[in-house]
Amino acid sequence: MLKIYNTLTRTKSSFVPIVPGLVCMYSCGPTVYNYAHIGNLRTYVFMDLVRRVFKFEGYKLKGVMNITDVGHLMADSDDGEDKIVTAAKKQNKSPLEIAEFYTDAFFVDLDKLNIEKPEIIVKATDHVSEMIDYVSQLIEQGFAYETSDGIYFDRAKFSNYGALSGAILDEQIAGIRVEINNEKKHPADFALWKKAEPLHIMRWDSPWGEGYPGWHIECSVMSQKYLGQTFDLHTGGVDHIPIHHENEIAQNEAISKKKSVNYWMHGEFMLVDGGKMSKSLGNVYTITDLEKIGYDALDFRYFCLNAHYRSKLNFTFSGMDAAKKTRRNLGIQLAKHKDSNERSSTEILNHYRNLFKKAIEDDINVPLALGILFTMLKESKSYDIYKLALEFDSIFGLSLDKTTTDLVEDREEAIIPDDIKELIEKRTIAKANKDYALADDIRKQIQERGYQILDTKEGVKVSKVGD
Ligand code: AMP
Ligand code: ZN
Repeated sequence: MLKIYNTLTRTKSSFVPIVPGLVCMYSCGPTVYNYAHIGNLRTYVFMDLVRRVFKFEGYKLKGVMNITDVGHLMADSDDGEDKIVTAAKKQNKSPLEIAEFYTDAFFVDLDKLNIEKPEIIVKATDHVSEMIDYVSQLIEQGFAYETSDGIYFDRAKFSNYGALSGAILDEQIAGIRVEINNEKKHPADFALWKKAEPLHIMRWDSPWGEGYPGWHIECSVMSQKYLGQTFDLHTGGVDHIPIHHENEIAQNEAISKKKSVNYWMHGEFMLVDGGKMSKSLGNVYTITDLEKIGYDALDFRYFCLNAHYRSKLNFTFSGMDAAKKTRRNLGIQLAKHKDSNERSSTEILNHYRNLFKKAIEDDINVPLALGILFTMLKESKSYDIYKLALEFDSIFGLSLDKTTTDLVEDREEAIIPDDIKELIEKRTIAKANKDYALADDIRKQIQERGYQILDTKEGVKVSKVGD
């Protein structure tokens, strides 16, 4: 029986759905103001693994994922500009254009990573009237109040606040910086609706004048609309535990007076070079960045599979090189089984099938399951082993059926010609001398000769375009 770790109970427990055979699941989706970075994508690989495990266990899925195209403010709390609006201004586009562009880019990334899209994908901007109704209900029931800049949830009225993160209201307040908004009853109260400033572009009519919804209300409204007041499972990244998901629970349960979600699952963070990803450090990579320097998106998926979803994962290029190499090796091993006319005994096959199932059912232990695959491939060559590896791949999602043919050709690593190496050397010297104009010029020369370069902490990465 499948056991999963539930953030709410802080224990691993057997999964029991509300409706037998069906999993109703909500996953916090992206805020579409930029390309997804590899950290975001690790969380969606995690969501995908969860979905694939349920399918493997014979469940039908009703998965809902939102697209946040309004209301997510720069500071994740209630201040700062809307992320979409900021991007729109910067790129001289409308918020709709920004949201559509990055939503499409997100789907392309999901596709490349073999992440199956949830059954229902919904946009926040299509649900604003329902959000207004929800906020009105919260006011009527005494859980929310109006200030000059918006409607706020009155956290003190919801006694169960903190169940997910263990946060205690008073403790949290000590950590909140000096409040700008002194009309709030409590510094930790959060915005359900913001009144639009005169120049704010995204605005809707409401009983409180023109404005726009808060980020947390979006997920409450969309999850409950499609999955009901109590549903099975909610996923997201660990950063959402203390604020976003606590707030969702507070909003949901204030209205329904019921437990809103039975199981909460959270994916741990991805670090880069042991630290946070940030633009100023220049270490926010996208899938396209990785592709440009010669990795396949599935090398990244494979890299993610090597860590349990509840462990932090440190991204390095040497780790990616190892992932790329091992995935290729996997293809070579698999091809030998595929080409074999031999069969394996039922006993051997069942042995590996059982080990695999046990690993998966123990809180989705994919790294262990991968180890089992590699051990199995060491068995004497047989077509049955190849077929069983493909069964396992229903969870790994590595396109192992294609991997044998794509990778077995075992292309030589691109050999970088000497003149390109010289240019790279010159560019490094130019950069050290802070002659950025020359460095840029050399980069262009390198590109004109069909090579891509990327500066990383581990030095310059270079590859032939199209490799
Ligand atoms: P956002 O688009 O900012 O709402 O983030 C989308 C998802 O990515 C959320 O579920 C976040 O928890 C998750 N996320 C953000 N940064 C990271 C990271 N460094 N590692 C893993 N997940 C992340
Ligand atoms: Zn959410």
